[in-house]
Amino acid sequence: MDHSTDRSITLTGAHENNLRDVSLTLPKGRITVFTGVSGSGKSSVVFDTIAVESQRQLNETFTSFLRNRLPKYERPRAESMENLSVAVVIDQKPLGGNVRSTVGTATDIWSVLRVLFSRYGTPSAGGATAYSFNDPAGMCPECDGVGQVVRLDLDRAVDWSKSLNEGALLLPGLGVGSWEWSLYGGSGRFDNDLPLGEFSEEDRQLLLYGSGFTVRVDMRTGSAEMRFEGVVTRFERLYLKRDTASLSEKRRAAADRFTVERVCGSCDGARLNAAALATRVDGLSPADYGRMEVSELVGVLARIDDPVGGPIAAAARERLERLVGIGLGYLSLDRQTSTLSGGEGQRLKMVRHLGSSLTGLTFVFDEPSVGLHPRDVGRLGDLLVRLRDKGNTVLVVEHDPDVMAVADHIVDMGPRAGSEGGHVVFEGPFDRLRASDTLTGRSLRRRTPLKSEFRSPTGQLPVRGADLHNLKGLDVSFPAGVLTVVTGVAGSGKSTLVSEVFTAAHPEAVVIDQSAITASSRSTPASYIGALDTIRKVFARENGVDAGLFSFNSAGACPGCAGRGEISTDLAFMDPVTTTCRECEGRRFHDDVLKHRVGGRSIVDVLEMTAAQAVDLFEDRALLRKLRTLDEVGLTYLTLGQPLSTLSGGERQRIKLATQLHRTSSVYVLDEPTTGLHLADTGALVDLLDRLVDAGNTVVCVEHNLEVVKRADWVIDLGPDGGKKGGELVFAGTPEGLLADRTSVTAEYLRRDLG
Ligand code: ADP
Ligand code: ADP
Ligand code: ZN
Ligand code: ZN
Repeated sequence: MDHSTDRSITLTGAHENNLRDVSLTLPKGRITVFTGVSGSGKSSVVFDTIAVESQRQLNETFTSFLRNRLPKYERPRAESMENLSVAVVIDQKPLGGNVRSTVGTATDIWSVLRVLFSRYGTPSAGGATAYSFNDPAGMCPECDGVGQVVRLDLDRAVDWSKSLNEGALLLPGLGVGSWEWSLYGGSGRFDNDLPLGEFSEEDRQLLLYGSGFTVRVDMRTGSAEMRFEGVVTRFERLYLKRDTASLSEKRRAAADRFTVERVCGSCDGARLNAAALATRVDGLSPADYGRMEVSELVGVLARIDDPVGGPIAAAARERLERLVGIGLGYLSLDRQTSTLSGGEGQRLKMVRHLGSSLTGLTFVFDEPSVGLHPRDVGRLGDLLVRLRDKGNTVLVVEHDPDVMAVADHIVDMGPRAGSEGGHVVFEGPFDRLRASDTLTGRSLRRRTPLKSEFRSPTGQLPVRGADLHNLKGLDVSFPAGVLTVVTGVAGSGKSTLVSEVFTAAHPEAVVIDQSAITASSRSTPASYIGALDTIRKVFARENGVDAGLFSFNSAGACPGCAGRGEISTDLAFMDPVTTTCRECEGRRFHDDVLKHRVGGRSIVDVLEMTAAQAVDLFEDRALLRKLRTLDEVGLTYLTLGQPLSTLSGGERQRIKLATQLHRTSSVYVLDEPTTGLHLADTGALVDLLDRLVDAGNTVVCVEHNLEVVKRADWVIDLGPDGGKKGGELVFAGTPEGLLADRTSVTAEYLRRDLG
């Protein structure tokens, strides 16, 4: 390999997070894969150092006017970095909860189809914005282009069996005797002792929707002239007509509690106005185009070969084929991006960049194989190669050996996690890594045999007639008291079956997913596992002061940042930028707090320790047991005070698992628990799941990783393909039975793996 400096990115003396003076030379125009156990420092090199510095250097090239309006990146801790190019980070952060973002808009494919409808459709509704549901010219006026409408649910808002005096109005603020209640009960217009269900139609309309007149209202404090406004009209004005972002937390919760969301009756969910929806291209409306699966739409567009429509259809088709190529052909363009998984979102972002003609960029990926069946990982490799061959540098953090195999260069971080990691332990091509003595090398050579003794179920948890999304009326039984793994290609219906249908049918199931932990921005591993309270009490007792002093949420908070450790600046048009608080330098505490010690350590010292280190400092048994759960789920390397917001999806899932470990007799559901896990850690994760099962629990996981499939007691395989072509039960039985199955794609890859 050519390592001449101008053709390589050079990084010298990197110290970000746990990095120990890391120096690297990365070939440009090549694919480099970063491997290593989780917490070894892969992201610290790729995201926190290289990507951040290239963004920062890019910003420095702008005028000071622009620079002042861009996010401020702090210089990563490294001696020098040379030859960086503009970095494009393609991570698994959700594509955002914006209701206006769909697969069609996020990939820009809808904008091409808009041109097709406006130039080639009959009758045309006008220039292109006429087919945009995000533009007043095209949007459905009833739902403002959202496809859904939110309405007050009358049966939740009103108790029809009660009278006004008995408290029939259940909405917030309408308690009997309140001045708001008096608008109805004090108006003299209604019989306050008649149950609402017995009101005349006229009175009922008046109470719910009346407006446009004033009434003299009797209240406890006297009487007043007031404008009448029906119960429903008033609720809609106060809670629904406003931008929900401007509502207080409490009001938003109230709005959620009393409302239902329905498909808009005017556009039937298609978001467009009547003129747009009346247009046809080859007999199909824009709504039909939106609803069709992408793989099907490709065929429909291929039939348009006329001189006007042909070239536009071809442009749309080229983009759609990229979606199919990356294994997303089962999506429809009208699918709201907020409903996509992290892996699907990442692949969608990738498609957007594949279409770009820019070259010489550095693309940075975070475990792109997430959510992909072994069959689809091959296609992913092809896409990475195509990005490279367009003249780009590709950096990938990845655990999947099939992705490592397409790399030109591999950097293995280690030897372990956290403070025991942070070194480059290997650099070179895949075959040499496989032959090496690093943890990754050894794991790559190890073969897990197929499990041969299976647990017997203690019962059955059935699902009947499951038909949500693409599921085709499935009847399937989940055996209780065993480890069940649900497999199938992406889009076959695994998450739908497990996370939606199964959990709805068996509400006792505890879902341990990778979603953000909805706790305050100040939460840490210590607070999450319930260890922090005890730690504070120990500090209070030994120093004879109040425990609140050791909380950065109360008395102990640094006044500069209110205990956040960082200051976040909101930018209207970009992600907020966070910088370390200058007053406490990120320690979060008031200086005085640090004088108080336990075993010579301040609370800040303790929060900088890992659980393994803290175990030596304390004696409280319950506390020690909690600290050890972090070890059991493979998170020993996290410091007790690391903000939960910096955890990856896989780490979040494992910390949730830690809090569940010592409970029993439950059903646990996990969606791809090996995400973010090194091959060496995957075995430890299955050990953990085995322990949960041995303690009397039922464990169901959705998983592609064959190392997990091989250790299941029971496999449920869905397919045969994604989307419409999926949703059927292909196989249910033991892994041995699966091995012999001739129809399942999963079986084919299992045979290959064991072969
Ligand atoms: P990997 O990508 O290999 O899983 P990371 O680079 O994310 O590892 O993490 C390396 C170490 O740095 C871990 O101990 C992790 O807990 C720590 N770390 C990562 N991000 C932060 C952060 N924002 N603040 C403090 N510690 C961090
Ligand atoms: P898997 O978990 O096997 O990848 P999913 O259960 O996510 O598959 O998806 C199965 C099918 O259901 C796909 O066609 C997918 O597009 C569709 N689907 C999943 N979630 C939604 C949703 N929230 N809205 C509409 N369609 C969905
Ligand atoms: Zn509508
Ligand atoms: Zn501070």
